[in-house]
Parts: sequence; C-alpha cells; structure tokens
Amino acid sequence: MWNIHQAYIDGAFVPVQGSEVLDVVDPTTEEVIGRATMGHREDAKRAIAAAGRAQSFMRGTAKADRIDMLRRLQAAVLARSGQLRDVTVEGYGGPRARAQWVSRYASECFAGAAQTLEEFPLTHAVGSAQVVLQPVGVAALIAPWNSAVGTICSKLASALAAGCATVIKPSELSPIQTQVLAEALHDADLPPGVINILLGRGTDVGDEISTSPGVARISFTGSTATGKLIARAAVDTMKRVSLSLSGKSASIVLDDADLDLAVPQAIAAAFMNNGQACVAGTRLLVPRARADDIIERVRAGVAAMRVGDPRGPATEVGPLASRAQFDRVRRFIRRGLEQGATLVVGGESRPEHLARGFFVRPTVFADVRHNMDIAREEIFGPVLSILAYEDEDEAIRIANDSVYGLQAYVFSSEPERARRLALQLEAGTGLINRTQRELLGPVRGGKPSGIGREFGAAGLASYLESKTIGLRA
Ligand code: NAD
Repeated sequence: MWNIHQAYIDGAFVPVQGSEVLDVVDPTTEEVIGRATMGHREDAKRAIAAAGRAQSFMRGTAKADRIDMLRRLQAAVLARSGQLRDVTVEGYGGPRARAQWVSRYASECFAGAAQTLEEFPLTHAVGSAQVVLQPVGVAALIAPWNSAVGTICSKLASALAAGCATVIKPSELSPIQTQVLAEALHDADLPPGVINILLGRGTDVGDEISTSPGVARISFTGSTATGKLIARAAVDTMKRVSLSLSGKSASIVLDDADLDLAVPQAIAAAFMNNGQACVAGTRLLVPRARADDIIERVRAGVAAMRVGDPRGPATEVGPLASRAQFDRVRRFIRRGLEQGATLVVGGESRPEHLARGFFVRPTVFADVRHNMDIAREEIFGPVLSILAYEDEDEAIRIANDSVYGLQAYVFSSEPERARRLALQLEAGTGLINRTQRELLGPVRGGKPSGIGREFGAAGLASYLESKTIGLRA
C-alpha cells in the first residue's frame, strides 16, 4: 500500500498540513492501492517561499552551472526509469510500452534543454545597447494526470535551463507518479528550494499558486476550462502564463497515401495512451473515393488491438484512468450512436474478457458529420471519428473546423504536398508520416488549445525576460 503524506519542499520531504486524504485506485483492478494526503494553501505558501529564496541563488548561476544541474537530473531520472514506468502503469493504466517510452523521454528532456541552453545566446548587442536575457523568477509548473512524469520533466528542464526556481503542482490524481519522480529529482542533489513539489487540489494549492505575488511565471498543462481560470487568476499579479490545453486533432490521409503505412500510424495516433493524450489524432479525415477501403482497414486494425492489463508487454490499450473517465467516454460513445454515426467497431459495453477495471472498447465511428459531439469535443478516450472529404480544400476546411488547434497529422506519398497542406492547418505542430514529435523543436497549440510554446529555444525563451542595458557611447 502506498502511503503518501509528504511534499518535497526546500530540499526535504516534509509532512503536508492538509487533511484531505484521497484513495489511490489501480484502474486495472479497481482496488485501492494507497492513500494520499493533499497539501493545502499553507503548504503552497511554504513551497513558494522556498523557491523565492532559491531564486536569488539561481539568478547568479552561469550557463555551465545550469547545464550541470540538467545533466544531474537527466542521470537521476534515468536511474529511476524502471520505477517511473511501473508507477505510470499502476497509477493510470498507461500501457507498459508507452510508459517505458515516457520514462526515458522524461530524462531526455533534460539533455535536450542542456543542448538548447548551450547554443542559446543569453546576451546580444543592439545598436549602442546590450540586451541581456534573465530568468523571469519563480516558475510554477501545473500538470495534468495523463502524462505526469513527461509533462513535469519537460517543463522543469526549460525552467531550470533559464535559471528559474520551481514549484511543481502535479494533479491530485497522480500521487504515486509524483512520489517516485520527487525521489528521483531529490537524488540529483540540487540546492534546496530549486525544486519544490506538492500535491493538492486546484481550487486550493492551484489557486494559491495562480494568485501569489511570489510566483512570476506559470506553465500550465491541462484542460482549456482550467487554463482559462488560471489565466484570469494570474493577471492581477501580472504573471507570465503559458497554457497547453485540450485538443481534437485531425489525421488527414491524402489520396496518394500508402495505406499500409498510413492506416497503422493513424490508428496509433488516435489510440496512444489509451486515447488519453491531448495530441491524439481523434478525427480521421479520409478521401471519399478511398473511404470504404480505409474504414475496413481501420476496423480490422482496431478490432485486433490487444486490450487488457497494461502490465502485459503486448498490451496496446489499457484501462481508462478513473471511473469518471470510464463513465465520460462511454457517454460519448452513446451520444455518437444517438446522433446517427455508424459504429464500425467497439461500442459502449465493456470488453467481454475484462470483468473489472475501467476498460472501454477501442471504438471507431464512420459517417461522422462535423456537427456531432464526437467530431467536436475532446473525448479523452479510445474513440476515433472518421469523416470523409471530397478534395484537399475540403480536407483543410474540416480539419480547421474545430475550436482546438493542437496537433495535426498528414499521411501522403508526396512529402512536399503534405508539407504545403500542413502549413495551412491551424495547429501548433504538424507531423507528416510520423506520430512522434521532434524533441528539440517548440510545440503546443493555438486557438483554445493554448498560448505559448514549450521545448526548444522558444520554450527556454518563455522563462526569460530581456533587459536592455543602454551604454553611453
Ligand atoms: P485539469 O485541467 O482538470 O487539471 C490539470 C491541473 O490543473 C491539475 O493539476 C489540477 O489540479 C489543476 N487545477 C485544477 N483547477 C485549478 C485551478 N482553479 N487553479 C490552478 N490549478 C488548477 O486537466 P486533467 O483532467 O488533469 O487533464 C486532462 C486535460 O489536460 C485534457 O483536456 C488534455 O487535453 C489536457 N492536456 C493537454 C496537454 C497539452 O500539452 N496541450 C497535455 C496533456 C493533457
């Protein structure tokens, strides 16, 4: 049984002062596997104060000092990657292969940030003046539950590269991932207060972070609804805010695509992380002339997916993270049927071989119209909607007909044609014939999918403020 009742503040694990205790439930078995005590506002104040003290130290660090910190974090997280993989599987049912990838990726984020910082000019001359880029101040990193380890490490890497001390608030729904990650970060032996981590409710710890004058910058990943609350709360203290939010990304199969390559990737894009990925390609746009062939291939591919215990090395789709997720996703499947979409495979009932656990059948709908809920709303589960288009212009129109603008996938045998099309899509990232993004490039969304960029030079710059020093000639 996990018993988590400490936060990591000022370089030490300390008991939290909050009194709310949440059960930790294994979504595969529905059994309670632990208890986690939530921090509250007073704990957040302590963490922010510790980060404020550490900020004085961070402000004086040179590039080489920060690169050394990043390298130590890379090694510390890598050393725990097996444990991080296991808690990702246990904590929210992430399939083992993906959890393995995420735990490696988490350590690579530090290496990527170190490389970016190495090449990033922190001063430059303009006319008779010098422009100096300085850390913006204490950065708060607020993360969702669906990829806690990767999200936190990627934000932390950019913040530390810029010289910001941090307060990290993972989701109250990811306590065991948080615990193991905090232990890994502690192993890196950074000065006290540079990294602080506490669990807590958004309305309590999250609100304290969003309104505290001790926090200069918030990097948030989560739903669009919460992002709006944070942005509003943060404006009174003029925090720099970046928001990575919800998505409803399109995968476009062009008429020249090699379907043997495109269809498996489109399926992978839709069902990654059990469909609980902000960047999941959950709207599949197919040329009408090839629709029957593609739908049949998708049906066969999804019907063959191995759904079950995420600990199994061959499992492709595990359970949803919580009962709330389980109920929500099944509600969307029901609504798809009620609104007249054609069920291709899957459905509302649980997989026959799985009597317990928050398992939903990987589900595909065809004949989906743009105004159906399953075409418009982020479902955050293993549900794919197929929409047919006549020509390229219509494909672009349908892809852009979404309130969101996070990521887009294009499959084509002509990369230059796909690139031209990707440039017309309203999405922060375009991926052509691939589903993994470039680690050194900036990503995240436009429209209500977010503000600002993470990763790469743009991600680093978002934690820096420029100061122009005018020199008399
Ligand atoms: P959520 O918005 O409910 O919660 C995210 C975080 O915000 C949690 O830590 C939560 O405690 C905190 N929070 C809640 N209310 C708050 C408040 N008032 N003030 C401050 N903090 C508050 O999201 P979730 O359910 O944990 O995650 C799923 C969502 O995250 C999906 O919409 C998904 O698309 C999105 N997401 C986006 C990205 C991206 O990079 N764009 C990545 C992963 C997930």
